Amino acid sequence: MTASPSVSPTIDPTESARESLLEFRNVRIVYDNAIEAIRDVSIAVPASGIVALLGSNGAGKSTLLKAMSGILHTEEGELENGSISFRGESVHHLAPDELVRRGIVQVPEGRRVFPALTIDENLQMGGYTKSAAETRQQREKVFGMFPRLYERRDQIAGYMSGGEQQMLAIGRALMTGPALLALDEPSLGLAPLIIDRIYEVIAKLRDEMKLTVLLVEQNAQRALDICDYAYILETGRVVLDGTARKLSANEDVQEFYLGVSGSGRKSMRDVKHYKRRKRWLS
Ligand code: ATP
Repeated sequence: MTASPSVSPTIDPTESARESLLEFRNVRIVYDNAIEAIRDVSIAVPASGIVALLGSNGAGKSTLLKAMSGILHTEEGELENGSISFRGESVHHLAPDELVRRGIVQVPEGRRVFPALTIDENLQMGGYTKSAAETRQQREKVFGMFPRLYERRDQIAGYMSGGEQQMLAIGRALMTGPALLALDEPSLGLAPLIIDRIYEVIAKLRDEMKLTVLLVEQNAQRALDICDYAYILETGRVVLDGTARKLSANEDVQEFYLGVSGSGRKSMRDVKHYKRRKRWLS
């Protein structure tokens, strides 16, 4: 078995511009003028699908999300090469509120609801770019999708469970009426049954609300169960990409991201050995 080559996928410029809602093209991102976090990454996110970005700690997943949310500069990060486009227009220079107006919204890692506000107040805050009528309409939709939030609408968000806070964070993002929802590790720190529920909601967003979802996950198994297409990042580069079915069947992915192989689950020692081998190769 051989490791897959560390190359970015080739994107035909005309095809991808027509079909992708969001596109990263040959992106290079550097922090503090010194640390190269992303190197020549190209990613296409077609409309009304779920694309997953997989990879372990430090692979560069959050950096890509920050770049498409207009907050890279707050951490001294800079897009030094390449482009990020949404509906065919360059967006990496836009401020976060303008990105939201254009239809991009992100649910950050760790949920980050306003803990002292009620559920309803959290949702109202999410509608800040919308008119009062649009806010009312979105609120109805969100409560329709999350009956639990409706039941507890007057309760303080900080007292809710982790799973409920994750749902509130998704609900608040939906208040902006997005075309594209980016989710940063929605399963982090949650119990398996709660993760099931969150993932059911994510599938509904695609299947019923026709939203486009960019799903960032370390939990490759969960993400591959639901997504249409995935990219695997390692040390700032795309090392593999393909349909969920293709990646789930890939031996390297099974062994090192799903933790299974023909001979059963691999140990961390094997994984370390693999990483050493890869360092020799690179
Ligand atoms: P995690 O799952 O832990 O969030 P990740 O895949 O999202 O990891 P990033 O957080 O994007 O990875 O980090 C990619 C690289 O950029 C890492 O080497 C990290 O140390 C570096 N990095 C991230 N944020 C900063 C920053 N603000 N300043 C300097 N380096 C950073």
